[in-house]
Amino acid sequence: MESYKNINFLFEKVSVLKGVGNKISVFLKKKGVKNINDLILDFPYSYTDRSKIYSLDKLEIGKVATVRVKVDKYNFPRKRNLPNKVLCSNDTGKINIIFFNSREGYIRKVLPINDWVIISGKINYYKANYQIANPDYILPSHQNESLQKIIPKYSLTEGINEKKYRSLIEQTLLKIPNLDEWHPDEIIKEFKFESWRDSILKVHNIKEDIDINSKFYRRLAFDEIISHILALYENRKKVKKIKKKIKIFKGILSKKIINNLPFKLTSGQNDVISEINIDLQSNNRMFRILQGDVGSGKTIVSLISACNVIESGYQCALMAPTEILAKQHFNLAKEIFKATNYNVEFLSSKIDKKKRINVLKDLKTKKIDFIIGTHSLFQKNVIFEKLGLIIIDEQHKFGVKQRMELSEKGGRECDLLLMSATPIPRTMMLAMYGDMDISKITEKPLNRKKVLTLSKPENKINDIWPFLKKEIKNNNQIFWICPLIDESKNLNYSSAKTKFKFINKKFPNRVGLIHGSLDENEKELILEKFQNKEIDILVSTTVIEVGIDFPNANIIIIENANKYGLAQLHQLRGRVGRGIKQGNCILLFSQTISEKAIKRIKILKSSNDGFYIADQDMKLRGYGDILGFKQSGIKHFRLADPVLHEDLFNVAENYIQKIQHHFNTTKTYQNLLKIFDKAEIIND
Ligand code: ADP
Ligand code: MG
Repeated sequence: MESYKNINFLFEKVSVLKGVGNKISVFLKKKGVKNINDLILDFPYSYTDRSKIYSLDKLEIGKVATVRVKVDKYNFPRKRNLPNKVLCSNDTGKINIIFFNSREGYIRKVLPINDWVIISGKINYYKANYQIANPDYILPSHQNESLQKIIPKYSLTEGINEKKYRSLIEQTLLKIPNLDEWHPDEIIKEFKFESWRDSILKVHNIKEDIDINSKFYRRLAFDEIISHILALYENRKKVKKIKKKIKIFKGILSKKIINNLPFKLTSGQNDVISEINIDLQSNNRMFRILQGDVGSGKTIVSLISACNVIESGYQCALMAPTEILAKQHFNLAKEIFKATNYNVEFLSSKIDKKKRINVLKDLKTKKIDFIIGTHSLFQKNVIFEKLGLIIIDEQHKFGVKQRMELSEKGGRECDLLLMSATPIPRTMMLAMYGDMDISKITEKPLNRKKVLTLSKPENKINDIWPFLKKEIKNNNQIFWICPLIDESKNLNYSSAKTKFKFINKKFPNRVGLIHGSLDENEKELILEKFQNKEIDILVSTTVIEVGIDFPNANIIIIENANKYGLAQLHQLRGRVGRGIKQGNCILLFSQTISEKAIKRIKILKSSNDGFYIADQDMKLRGYGDILGFKQSGIKHFRLADPVLHEDLFNVAENYIQKIQHHFNTTKTYQNLLKIFDKAEIIND
């Protein structure tokens, strides 16, 4: 076998392969296969053993099998659309071989009457007979050696059959280059890794179902993890290379704000404020994520950072993922900045044109110091005079690329602070945020009590009313969450509108309704009513899921709780228990819920700790499904699995810290980075 050192072959288009024309190229593209490298990284998931000859009374319908039979009789119907049929048998039974598109001449040639042949294909059953339609292989009986092989199975796509796809893989594997090893010896030895090339070859030539814990697979998964983290680190270096002017502030304003707060900051909050201040006052740009479980008090941290930046003469922008949350931040900021002569404004796509024009003008001339809003803050026509800090709240959906874009949009003087309550399992931390500095608030304000969590079958809903009555009497407030806005014919879930009517009968005029299709003024009006305790119960869809803060609300009832994932339930539950009162969460579920849903509810009842819940979530669902992960914008790992390859992630973490200071990581790992499509991020 020839072997090349040249990596370029991997990035050739699939059309360099024999048998790939325009049509096949298009089909392959649909499968996500554009170049040779994509083909190589598309591993088989299982195999077919064609070497074994089955007896005709032991066939399994739907499975691929190989049989040795004698050709008995032809049946060539003269009608169009009817298939040609060949009747075969041996002493264990009979089988029909069906041809949909083959001509008589061909069939007579490969299946001569009275000859013994070996036929391999998928077994079907039709009108009391076994059959193989369009067999994959037909060979004269004495040539059975050429079938003595175990054939890998790939997931296919429209327009490409198994044989075709395999021929492409086979052509590719023949020319796969022998690249210089990029990992140091110690790693190779520790894990008994083989070379990249051998690992690829072995993974494609499986003799069992794919084993993602084989050393061959693990090597390739490790490659992927390393390439991913390296790319993040390089990103980070790039961000840090650009020097900014240090921000100079006296902290007078922040002191004033802190003194006016109705509570004392926790030491965790003070610590992260100091970390952020160091960044702001250095000439490296801040590229930091602030993590803290729901209710840990991130908002005030961000507002204090904002005020320091404003005091140093810059503008600040705070973006929230929903209009409701942005508005709430705005109202809080307005309150806090009241005693200053700085100007706080609000911007979203929903504000009227005239107002918008003014806001845009005032941002350009720095009449506005602090702008709070939704993603419309970052549209092209929003121009700042002197932007010094971008804060993004609850943005677990931002991947590496978006982070880079934001940092560029802000300009070289602009620091960046992301905030997230989505707890990332520990193994994923570096893989998701390796390009950022991480600040964590690990404690919650002292006065917090654990939210009590109960679950109840839906048909016991009547038990709840007396409880609610009592709570309302004690001046407490309630969120009631339904999955749907309107009733649905197809979905058997509770709708907010229907529930509102129902509850409103029980507690007349004390119930409000909020959901995504109300317009902004209506939403605001209802939230205001809730805030002013003009209503006791707020029936809502998940629009209030993230960030919303009503410390007086201490009860949340979640209908169809089995519908949500753990992370989402934890977020929803985080809406209560934010003040000094005992928080309560009641999960309503139908009787017919899955095993997994029961486990989720159990986990939730057992813990209030977002990180613990995230870890459990990952174990329960596999990492691909974790909330915020699918939508994270971060490209999925193709091979690595943070649950099953946890040890590799941990080793990667230490190892990267070590090699980071090496002069030439990008050069050493150049080929690896190319293979996993990271070279572009780095060279950009
Ligand atoms: P999150 O971290 O989920 O964004 P918030 O910033 O919304 O949390 O804070 C939750 C609630 O806790 C708010 O009502 C806020 O005023 C309150 N809070 C914040 N910090 C403290 C503190 N140090 N002591 C008491 N309450 C606090
Ligand atoms: Mg928040």
